[in-house]
Amino acid sequence: MKPIHMAIAAITALLAPAHAGAQQQTVNYSHDATTFQTITLSDAQAVKLRIYDNGQDGKPVKTVSLKKGATDKNGYPTWNAQVKGDLEGKFYTFDVKYAGKFRGECPGISAKAVGVNGRRGAVIDMASTDPEGWSSDQSPVIDARDLVLYEMHHRDFSIDPSSGLEHKGKFLALSEPKAIAHLKALGVNAVHMLPSFDYASVDESHLENNKYNWGYDPLNYNVPEGGYSTNPADPKARIREFKQMVQALHNAGIKVILDVVYNHTFNIDGSNFQIMMPDEFFRKNADGTYSNGSGCGNETASDRPVMRDYMIESVKYWVDEYHIDGFRFDLMGVHDIETMNAIREALPPHIYIYGEGWSAGSCAYDADKLGMKAAIYKMPGIAAFSDDIRDALRGPFSDDHQAAFLAGLPGHEESIKMGIAGAIKHPQVDFGKVNYSKRSWTLQPTQMISYVSCHDDMCLVDRLKSSIPGITMDELIRLDLLAQTAVFTSQGVPFMLSGEEMLRDKKGVHNSYESPDSINHLDWTNLEKYPQVFNYYKNLIALRQNHRAFHLGDAEMVKSKLEFLPSQDALVAYHLKSSIPGEPWNDIYVVLNANKSERTVTVPKGTYTVVCRNIAIDENGLGTVEGPTVKVPAQSAMIFHN
Ligand code: CA
Repeated sequence: MKPIHMAIAAITALLAPAHAGAQQQTVNYSHDATTFQTITLSDAQAVKLRIYDNGQDGKPVKTVSLKKGATDKNGYPTWNAQVKGDLEGKFYTFDVKYAGKFRGECPGISAKAVGVNGRRGAVIDMASTDPEGWSSDQSPVIDARDLVLYEMHHRDFSIDPSSGLEHKGKFLALSEPKAIAHLKALGVNAVHMLPSFDYASVDESHLENNKYNWGYDPLNYNVPEGGYSTNPADPKARIREFKQMVQALHNAGIKVILDVVYNHTFNIDGSNFQIMMPDEFFRKNADGTYSNGSGCGNETASDRPVMRDYMIESVKYWVDEYHIDGFRFDLMGVHDIETMNAIREALPPHIYIYGEGWSAGSCAYDADKLGMKAAIYKMPGIAAFSDDIRDALRGPFSDDHQAAFLAGLPGHEESIKMGIAGAIKHPQVDFGKVNYSKRSWTLQPTQMISYVSCHDDMCLVDRLKSSIPGITMDELIRLDLLAQTAVFTSQGVPFMLSGEEMLRDKKGVHNSYESPDSINHLDWTNLEKYPQVFNYYKNLIALRQNHRAFHLGDAEMVKSKLEFLPSQDALVAYHLKSSIPGEPWNDIYVVLNANKSERTVTVPKGTYTVVCRNIAIDENGLGTVEGPTVKVPAQSAMIFHN
C-alpha cells in the first residue's frame, strides 16, 4: 500500500500551478490586499514601492518600504510588502538603493502586467483576463515530425487594406475567420510569431505614428506587447487579446510558437535587470567592458543561476498563463547548453523548442559550452535552423548578389542532400563537401529546421532577383517553387516566412527591421495575381502531410528509407523506399532540377505515377512516366511513385 504522505504529496503536486515556488518577482493581487516581492543583490540597502493611479505620469498615491526577508536559493535577499485595500487598476514601481543612492523606478525584472510603454507594473486580477472558455483551451496535439512552421509578424500580416482583416497590426487579427481560413487553406499548423512580448522601440502612446519594428529589443519579457493590443493603456487589453488569439488558433488546430529574445535587452542602463540588480544579468569581457555576442550592445549571462532561472520561469509562465506551444530562441548560440537543456527539462515534451544556432558576435563564455548548431546533438529535443540548406539553395547570407543551386550553379548538391536528410549522419552525405557543417549535427531529423527564407535577410523573391540578374517572372516563380519543394520534402521540420505563399517582396530591402509598412506588409492582392503560387504551396504542404515518407521523424528510418540517386550538377534526386508504415505509396522519387534545361535521371524499369511536374502538384496523378529513363523539366521539381 502506498504510504499516505506520498499520496498527499502527489495530490499537492497536481493542484499546485506549475510555476509555483520561489519566483524572482511576484505581485499577488487579492480583493483585500496585494503582496509584492522581489529579489535584489545582497548589498541592497532599501527597496521602495510606489503606487500610482496611472501607467505613466502623475505622483504616487502611496509609497511603501519593502521589508528584507529570506534569501532565495541563489543567495539573493527577497524584499516583501503587503499593501491593504483593493489595488486593481493601480500601477507600481520598485526603486532599489545601493551604496546610498536609489537607482530609479521600474516595474521590476518580471512584471506580468504593465502600463503603456511598460514603465510601470500594473496590479490586475489575472483571472479576469481569461476569455470565455479559456480554462478548456487545449494545445493541438501535433508530433514534432508533423509540424509545418509559419513565421509571421503581427503588423506585416494584417496591416495592408488588402488583407481584409479588421484588427490591422493587432493580435486579434489572427483570431479573425479570414486569417484562420488562410492558414488552414495553406496547411500550416504552427504560427511562429516574431517578438510578441513587450518591446521598447514602438511608442505605444503614439501608435498613430505607425512606427514599425520587428521587436528584437526586449523590455518586459513576461508581458505581451502593447502596440499589438487595441488599447495599450489598458493593462488587461493586451493580455486578454493575446489569449483570444491563442484560443482562436488552438480551436483551428494551429499551435502558437513565440520568438523569445533572452539573449540581450534593448539597452543596458535602461533595462529592468540593470536597474534592479546592476551587472548581475550581463556578461563582461576580461577588461570589464560589456560583451556583445548579440550584436545589439550586450549579452545576458544564461550561465549564471539568476539568468538561467529567469529564463526557465519565463517560458514556463508563457506555457501556463498563455498556453504557448513552443519557443524559437533568438541567437541561441549566446545561451549555454546547460541552460537550454534545463529549459527542455522544465517544459512538457509537447513544447517544441528550436533556435538560431549561432551568435552575432563573440561571447564572453567558453565557446564549447554555447548552444551552437554544431552542438545540437548535445541538446536532445532542441532544434536549430539549417543555414546549410538555406544558403546552398539561395546563396550565402553575407552577399545578396551571390547565387547558388537555384541559379543552376554546381557544387551545392551535398549541402542540399544534408538538408534533405535532416542533418543526421546519413551514409550517402559527404560532409567534406557540405558548405558549413563538416559533420552531422542532429540526433534526430526533427532537430533541424528546413528553410530557405525568414524575416532576416532578403525574402525569397528579392533574393532571386538580386542573385540572378535578368531573371524573368516565369523563372522566378519556377525557382521559388523549386526552393520550397526542397524545404518541404526535407526530413527536417519545414519552416516558411509568412507571405512567401503570396510571392511577397520587400522591394529588395535586406534588413527591414524598422522599414515602413510599404516594405514589410503582405500584399494580399498577390493571391489573385499569382494563384499558381499559393496553389503549389498548398498542394506541396498537403503532399508532405499526407505522406509519412516525407517526414519519417526518426534517424534510423531516414537512414534505411532515404536513398540518394547519383547527383548531377545542380540536380539532387532521391528515393524513398517502399514499405514505410502508414505510407500508401511504394517507391517515391523526388528530383530537384535547377538547370535551365531538361535533365534525365535513371530509375528502375516500370511505370510511375507523376504527382509533381513542371510546377504543378496533384496527388491524384499528373499522368505517368516509364523507367528507366525519366525526363525532368528545367528549373522545377518532379515527384513520382509506383
Ligand atoms: Ca512596448
